[in-house]
Amino acid sequence: MVGAGLSGAVIGRCLAEAGHEIDVIDSRNHIGGNCQTRRDEETGVLVHVYGPHIFHTDDEEVWNYVNSFEPFKPYKNRVKTTARGQVFSLPINLHTINQFFGRTMRPDEARRFIQEEQADTSIEDPKTFEEQALRFVGRDLYEAFFKGYTLKQWGCHPSELPASILKRLPVRFNYDDNYFFHKFQGMPENGYTALIEKILDHPGITVQLETDFKQDMAAHYDHVFYSGPLDGFFDYELGRLGYRTLDFEEFRYDGDYQGCAVMNYGEEEVPFTRITEHKHFAPWECHEGSVCYREYSRACEPGDVPYYPIRLVKEKALLSDYVELAEKTAGVTFVGRLGTYRYLDMDVTIREALDTARGFIDRLERGEAP
Ligand code: FAD
Ligand code: UDP
Repeated sequence: MVGAGLSGAVIGRCLAEAGHEIDVIDSRNHIGGNCQTRRDEETGVLVHVYGPHIFHTDDEEVWNYVNSFEPFKPYKNRVKTTARGQVFSLPINLHTINQFFGRTMRPDEARRFIQEEQADTSIEDPKTFEEQALRFVGRDLYEAFFKGYTLKQWGCHPSELPASILKRLPVRFNYDDNYFFHKFQGMPENGYTALIEKILDHPGITVQLETDFKQDMAAHYDHVFYSGPLDGFFDYELGRLGYRTLDFEEFRYDGDYQGCAVMNYGEEEVPFTRITEHKHFAPWECHEGSVCYREYSRACEPGDVPYYPIRLVKEKALLSDYVELAEKTAGVTFVGRLGTYRYLDMDVTIREALDTARGFIDRLERGEAP
């Protein structure tokens, strides 16, 4: 198993429970992959080391699965954004709309107002991020909340990005400011590292950290599940798939710095995209001091941590060439966020990991080549 993140842990656990001996290796000095949380020694705050992670899902089996290892506490993601000298509520909801336009509209009035006076209804089938925004919220809200943020986040104009990126965010004509729609939402009480540690805690699993996987190591194993970068497996022989990486500038504050977990910054002139104040991710804990991250996004260079797959036209062509290579590689299954070069939320990662492991076990039992 290459990678001790959620993909590696869940697949490893499933196979270990089916009686297999599993080696999990990771090049980092910790388990948890990008979901890692660690306790800050000075303040006691649980820090989301690779950026904020909120668990949300409609998949009841996945929800029960994670809760069977680590209790989850209720947590709703309520994001704020600073733009044009004010603080607004996200995702765009009735409060945002009324505050932004200085109105006191009721839900149906606001819906009519956006539809008739803001939205560009001449866009029939929005293809790009920009078209999607102009079609559903109009230019004023788009320019205040999305344009600058997206330029910073993705390093390109929203007219070059697919509409699917914005479709992740709802627009609501009521005062519901929950960032997600999902039925189950929460935070692991002791953090994601504690959760993943428990998933990996099985006599059939051995974890080896600070160990870099190289292709020739595959010969030592009956099968390899690889959750590292797809292009990295092939030593980038066809070129590099594009990623955005993040830089986190940590600072401390004695008290409550911003009063919420995540404050976005919509304006292009502010160089960071958001500030995360980690103690607010665990509101059931009480800490005097505070640990905050200013988050900056930039193009990923060799040696950086790959965060967001870019998946524009150029990357999609290269991706299909790598997928072809991967399909020809016997004895290796490519999994997870990096192994399949997709933006995967944690619940989808777990669902795919469970399905992958179960499919593998079924094929072995039927005597088929895995
Ligand atoms: P990873 O966590 O990336 O694990 C892969 C592991 O493989 C890493 O530990 C790496 O060190 C190791 N590895 C790579 N190459 C090698 C090699 N050659 N040899 C050995 N080891 C190797 N999801 C949500 O549901 N909610 C959120 O709020 C959320 N927020 C996010 C915020 C950010 C900034 C990002 C980037 C992602 C977020 N996600 C969120 C998605 C979440 O991080 C992923 O779903 C999850 O991390 C995927 O797990 P994984 O095991 O596939 O990959
Ligand atoms: N976005 C934005 N302004 C915001 C928040 C999000 O323009 O204040 C855009 C941005 O392009 C982002 C996308 O909406 O990539 C999806 O937002 P989400 O919060 O899902 O981003 P992620 O979790 O991927 O960081």
